[in-house]
Amino acid sequence: MLIKAPRGTRDILPPDVGQWQFVEGKAAEMCRIFGYQEIRTPVFEHTELFLRGVGEVTDIVSKEMYTFQDRGERSLTLRPEGTAPVARSYLEHKLYGETQPVKVYYIGPMFRYDRPQAGRYRQFHQFGVEVFGADDPTVDADVMVLALKFFRGLGLSDVTLQVNSVGCSACRSAYRTLLQEQLREKVSGLCVDCTDRYEKNPLRILDCKNVRCHELTENVPMMTDHLCQECATHFTAVKQAMDKLGETYLVNPRLVRGLDYYTKTAFEITSSVLGAQSSLGGGGRYDHLLSTIGGPEIPGIGFAIGLERALLAMEAEKVSIPVANTLDAFVATAGDVGADEALAVTMMLRDAGIAADKDYLGRSLKAQLKFADKKEVRFLIILGDEELKLGMATVRDMKNGTQQSVSMTGLTAHLTALVKEAK
Ligand code: AMP
Repeated sequence: MLIKAPRGTRDILPPDVGQWQFVEGKAAEMCRIFGYQEIRTPVFEHTELFLRGVGEVTDIVSKEMYTFQDRGERSLTLRPEGTAPVARSYLEHKLYGETQPVKVYYIGPMFRYDRPQAGRYRQFHQFGVEVFGADDPTVDADVMVLALKFFRGLGLSDVTLQVNSVGCSACRSAYRTLLQEQLREKVSGLCVDCTDRYEKNPLRILDCKNVRCHELTENVPMMTDHLCQECATHFTAVKQAMDKLGETYLVNPRLVRGLDYYTKTAFEITSSVLGAQSSLGGGGRYDHLLSTIGGPEIPGIGFAIGLERALLAMEAEKVSIPVANTLDAFVATAGDVGADEALAVTMMLRDAGIAADKDYLGRSLKAQLKFADKKEVRFLIILGDEELKLGMATVRDMKNGTQQSVSMTGLTAHLTALVKEAK
């Protein structure tokens, strides 16, 4: 227990961190190019924010939240998603008073009490973006294309974008009633979850993975055929913008997504290499979220992408990640040369920006060479008694086995040139 991480959480160990940095770096780079700035919000918020913002009937809020009381008896919740916290921050800091739209992105851990399995964890990481203050359909296309280009930038090719419109509060409530009427006779045949959803959130029945539920909803009318004029026009314009960019997508009228706050555009990005947990990410427009949590009526749209899933897809698609996390140089000592001498030389190299290290365990020269080899260090600097007296050191290229004697005063410049050439 003591030395086991809690169920559903995972350590990211040093050999794997390079992959994470690569993925996070791509996200940041893509966001910069698309005109987004980073935002960082706390990992916990008042529970109320998620109850109101995400919706009490959603799976996240009803079953999956890590909620606790702090010592001041406040009810707090580890964030299960990023949109409500970012929306809260936008309101709290009155960012609507600044030039609109506000385009932000975040990368960080999220927490859900889910049943852990491959691709599903209790602490996982999301990269997400939010755009506040613009309801133009080209924003919807811009956000979806950012997600697609991010995946392409990671080297993934098995990526499918599914798009739908879930309407607005006006047309959705009429459709919801219509759907309930159509399903009234069939409720008893639905799965347990969907029987529950029939009253609370009937639209979710449409994207239930259960085969029987799928069959029972085969001929029911779809939301896309019952959109109000404004939502229909918006959806057409979103698709047109995507077509103009030459981006492919599938219209999936059954796509609803788990969260309550979506209006108009809802989308999901899937990969067939992921197995059961095929969703890489998803998002949508949420034109009423800000007013729901106590702010003015300001439109918004965003997405969240699961980084563990992105990494799993990269592994499955055998994308090789350019990770160079090795040392440039290793300073070894021979004979009676002291460890402090090696430390001083190491520090001199580091000050010049060369990634360098030395032995700390009093190893023999042979063992130091073995260690440097294991660490895949390219250049070895050997400090020997006689050479040192002459102000010289030996530099060995571990890749091709060549070595030469270099003056200590010119060592940094010499190595800087070698390292540059090797990269
Ligand atoms: P959601 O916030 O539910 O729309 O999820 C967005 C994305 O986050 C999903 O497509 C997944 O890639 C990822 N995700 C959601 N829940 C989990 C989880 N429990 N473990 C790992 N990734 C998750």
